[in-house]
Amino acid sequence: MSELTELYDRVRVCQKCDLARGRTNAVPGEGPENAEIMFIGEAPGFHEDRQGRPFVGAAGQYLDELLALIGMKREQVYICNVIKCRPPQNRDPLPEETDACKPYLDQQIELIKPKVVLTISRFAMARWFPDRKISEIHGKPKKFGNLVVLPMYHPAAALHQPSLKRVLEEDFKRVPQILKEMANLKEEQEEKPKPPPEQLSMF
Ligand code: URA
Ligand code: SF4
Repeated sequence: MSELTELYDRVRVCQKCDLARGRTNAVPGEGPENAEIMFIGEAPGFHEDRQGRPFVGAAGQYLDELLALIGMKREQVYICNVIKCRPPQNRDPLPEETDACKPYLDQQIELIKPKVVLTISRFAMARWFPDRKISEIHGKPKKFGNLVVLPMYHPAAALHQPSLKRVLEEDFKRVPQILKEMANLKEEQEEKPKPPPEQLSMF
């Protein structure tokens, strides 16, 4: 059994916070273990709780459309949430709940080793950009070691506020360029062991 499957099994029976009591199914996340792109949302909603899978409702359908814009399919990316069990009435997760659930997301990031993380929720964004505002930093990739994090609006926000749709789509279309720049940088670093700093124009 892979470490990721073993993690899913632990999440499905987890009782580390009160959200365990209200769930139908925990939603650990899904996608290939070698995915280059990882989406991190907030928490399961109604449909996700029912099916035990992330982003299967309206926001998920829109996520599929966004992926199609860059010629990708859901099966090629990793999708998960900060919180693995549905909060009652979809309320915001409480600090003790995000704290209790954090080791699972930490381990997912460690196992998948994505090249790019797309944060699509306030709580995911706060992990790398505490105290920043999405309106100020959306679509701006930032490097953290070998990882690039691109903060984006939540697809559900764009569905409720059509003016955000264009913004989200334009931000999303930057992903292929980011991956290309990262690949070029890696190649250069392999050719020249001591690269000068500030090589990555976008970051
Ligand atoms: N919204 C989220 O943040 N996550 C889901 O899985 C579904 C909707
Ligand atoms: Fe466990 Fe996270 Fe579910 Fe809480 S939300 S019960 S910590 S898996």
